[in-house]
Amino acid sequence: MIGITSYGAYIPRLRLDRMSIFNAMGWFAPAIMMVAQGERSMCNWDEDTITMAVAASRDCLGGLDKQKLDALYLASTTLPFADRQNAGIVAAALNLSDKLITADHSSSQKAATTALITAFESVQSGERKNILVTASDLRETKTAYFYEMWFGDGAASLMVGDSNVIAEYQGSYSLSMDFVDHYRGADKKYDYMWEERWARDAGYGVIIPQVVNGLFDKLGITMEDVDKFVYPCFFKGDHRKISQRLGATPEKLIDNMHEVCGETGAAHAFMMFISALEQARPGDRILLCGFGQGANALYFTVTDNITKLPKRNGVQGSLENKKSIANYHKWLKFRDLIQTEMGIRAEAPSQTATTVLWRKNKMILGLVGGKCRECGTPQFPKADICVNPSCGAFYSQDDYEFADVPAKVKTFTGDMLAISVDPPAIYGMVQFEGGGRLMADFTDCELDEIKVGLAVKMEFKRKGIDQQRGFVNYFWKAVPVPGAIAEMDKIRFDGQVAIVTGGGAGLGRVYALELAKRGAKVVVNDLGGARDGTGKGSAVPADEVVAEIKALGGEAVANYDSVATSEGGQNIVKSAQDAFGRVDILINNAGILRDKSFLKMEPENWRAVMDVHLNGAYHVTRPAMTIMKEKGYGRILMTTSAAGLYGNFGQTNYSAAKMALVGLMNTLKLEGQKYNIKVNTIAPLAASRLTEDVMPPELLEKSKPEFVAPMMMYLCSNDCQESGSIFNVGMGYFNRAAVFTGPPVQLGDPDNPPTPEQIHESWEKINSLEGAREFEDANAAIFALISPSDETAAKEETPGGTPGSVQAIFDGMADSFNADAASGVDVVFQFNISGKGGGNWYCVIKDGACDIDSGTHEKPVCTINMEDADFLAMMGGKLAPMQAFTSGKLKIGGDVMKSQLLEKLFKIS
Ligand code: NAD
Repeated sequence: MIGITSYGAYIPRLRLDRMSIFNAMGWFAPAIMMVAQGERSMCNWDEDTITMAVAASRDCLGGLDKQKLDALYLASTTLPFADRQNAGIVAAALNLSDKLITADHSSSQKAATTALITAFESVQSGERKNILVTASDLRETKTAYFYEMWFGDGAASLMVGDSNVIAEYQGSYSLSMDFVDHYRGADKKYDYMWEERWARDAGYGVIIPQVVNGLFDKLGITMEDVDKFVYPCFFKGDHRKISQRLGATPEKLIDNMHEVCGETGAAHAFMMFISALEQARPGDRILLCGFGQGANALYFTVTDNITKLPKRNGVQGSLENKKSIANYHKWLKFRDLIQTEMGIRAEAPSQTATTVLWRKNKMILGLVGGKCRECGTPQFPKADICVNPSCGAFYSQDDYEFADVPAKVKTFTGDMLAISVDPPAIYGMVQFEGGGRLMADFTDCELDEIKVGLAVKMEFKRKGIDQQRGFVNYFWKAVPVPGAIAEMDKIRFDGQVAIVTGGGAGLGRVYALELAKRGAKVVVNDLGGARDGTGKGSAVPADEVVAEIKALGGEAVANYDSVATSEGGQNIVKSAQDAFGRVDILINNAGILRDKSFLKMEPENWRAVMDVHLNGAYHVTRPAMTIMKEKGYGRILMTTSAAGLYGNFGQTNYSAAKMALVGLMNTLKLEGQKYNIKVNTIAPLAASRLTEDVMPPELLEKSKPEFVAPMMMYLCSNDCQESGSIFNVGMGYFNRAAVFTGPPVQLGDPDNPPTPEQIHESWEKINSLEGAREFEDANAAIFALISPSDETAAKEETPGGTPGSVQAIFDGMADSFNADAASGVDVVFQFNISGKGGGNWYCVIKDGACDIDSGTHEKPVCTINMEDADFLAMMGGKLAPMQAFTSGKLKIGGDVMKSQLLEKLFKIS
């Protein structure tokens, strides 16, 4: 079976809003309004017929063995070279084998379908097996012209072969006529068009039916045998009418894509055909026609293999990956339709030495580097010595293709001085997965979209044009992977309001900027005092940050109050309420230092530091939390320090205040839980005026506040469900700090406290953190301390039978009540037992009596939550209560300590 074995397409990401053409030029040519719907595809300034052809071909070759290709045909009417084989450039960029026949098919809009028929016939002859036919066009038009509206840019590829056929080729019919509806002289940039009416009536209206009927006669079929009818014709109304006249019902006609991309010249028949294949089901029959000085008609039957073809970007994917623009001047500049001053630098010699191009052909056009045979290190460019310092092997490099290797942005810059058609020139280091780096230009993106770590892919683009000699240079550039920009910017704060205390400098400034960049409205609070908190303060730091945010298009207001007073805290929150009407995020960041060794620490220095760090957090958090509670949402971040968490000589005041913030968080996390208020703490490491004379210069250089901001943003985001945790953050390193508690050791007995000697004897055990764990609150920690350890509990396990049912346990519970142990006890236990045999029971113990009932009590003191099976195991003595608690099988709510009474009050078997 011979037919199409794969397809691929490329439509440039840029789409020009057709109304922008009318808005700019409608005064001159009002009639163009008639076709000003939707958008047309538009090459970026560094794209052309060849680059688009390479992109479509790569899409078509995805997942296939490209070395099996034995011919490549390129069809276009806008080839950049009249005498240098253009298909050969595509083959070099695809890094195909030399043993290949390449050919350019040109000079007619039907060049692509002609090339396709030639390919089928070549495979039919048995001479060749796999032929890639790519069509690509970028047609120029004068401004304010219908054709400027009608045309689009794009490329489409079809693979012809005799195995894994997705659409079987059933035959073709061709007509060749010197019908000149338009033409382009060999030295002309623009097409010359004859009257449209004539092109419609005598051209499409006659020739398309003629070729279709010719094919029908030849194959003995009718329109009944066609499920999808593909033929390009940019006159939308006539496109429909001609098809109707041929007997095709409207659903058979494949849309001419006017609204979404425009007619892509010689590529358009393929583009529409691929669009038909993307919608096709096995068994569908497709009629494809190409028009231009006659016409070609081809007939296909779609096979089951269509469902097995690996996913292509195709027409659908290309259409989805778009950036709409309404900047008509950009269009004019990119198409060289206006002359701008490019500056003296642009006049630097640009001649290409074709000798070098030939010597480095694989490297420049194929992006082929080297991979060391000895150590496996890839590098670009390929060199005689391995770049890996611990290898350094000589002449050990094998060819290594970088074009399809996934990559990420390592560094980048936006350069306004470098020559660029679309400034700033963006370039930087690209890091390839598995090794290898390349200094590359970035294209098809804006500077503010690029971030370190952004996933990029390499694409073949125009590097520059030697206008004087008519030579086009090509090389590979980095393009963001579709969707990767949005993926990197998923955490957003649109519509939320953030308060950043001490936001005028250091970490606070970066926090405020980053939150604003992701959509938050920010209150930038800063007193603007000296590093030690002295001085009368200044509005400058907060104002400057607000100005920076506004310059980036964000929203912010300044506040100059001190966090150290209660009124200050209230005013800060009021600023947020007044300006934006809510508070969602609070970052307690303001800070000062007054370092002195403890014995020299006068009360004033102690107090000043406590006032800003600890009391400051109290003053601002309280009014902020009131609003958060009302709204049922809040994110609060405390700022601690390694000095507090671990100690630092000369910083007793600061350490005490910073650790106190952890205590504040621990309890706030519990109080905020019910209102979806999450409270976390960050211990940053960052260059700022607080650290400039403390950290060595090399460390300062590396520890930019920007490396701390991402953790701040995550902890302040809606995505963050963490609460009550502490994180050390700096220079791209992160870890969690926490209070861990070792397992309890019981000494003495209930009537006799242990002796100090016993403590000494057991020191190793008491001091051990083996098996240590975190507790979510004080009750849980105390409960764990005074309960027997897992080990002991396990030993004490009493063998017993599992009671029959949960209901039976509660039925018999009153009998096992130990009234003697209940004197003075006033408690309500609520039991929530989940699972099939579960239910709800409560037990009221008061005045030495026990009352058990099913259901839910209004005011339980202590709530026991368990699965039925676990509850049965525990009540049957097979699961020690402590073990159940530590393993999470027993969850206790309310007054946890009261659960201790259960064992005394009831005789658990
Ligand atoms: P910074 O001095 O650059 O910024 C602190 C800001 O807080 C200053 O702009 C200051 O004017 C402001 N401020 C001081 N007192 C204020 C008050 N009473 N009211 C309002 N604003 C006030 O210092 P930074 O390094 O960016 O520190 C930010 C926070 O991070 C501080 O809490 C600090 O203790 C903490 N911290 C920083 C590091 C680090 O490596 N930089 C390490 C651990 C903790």
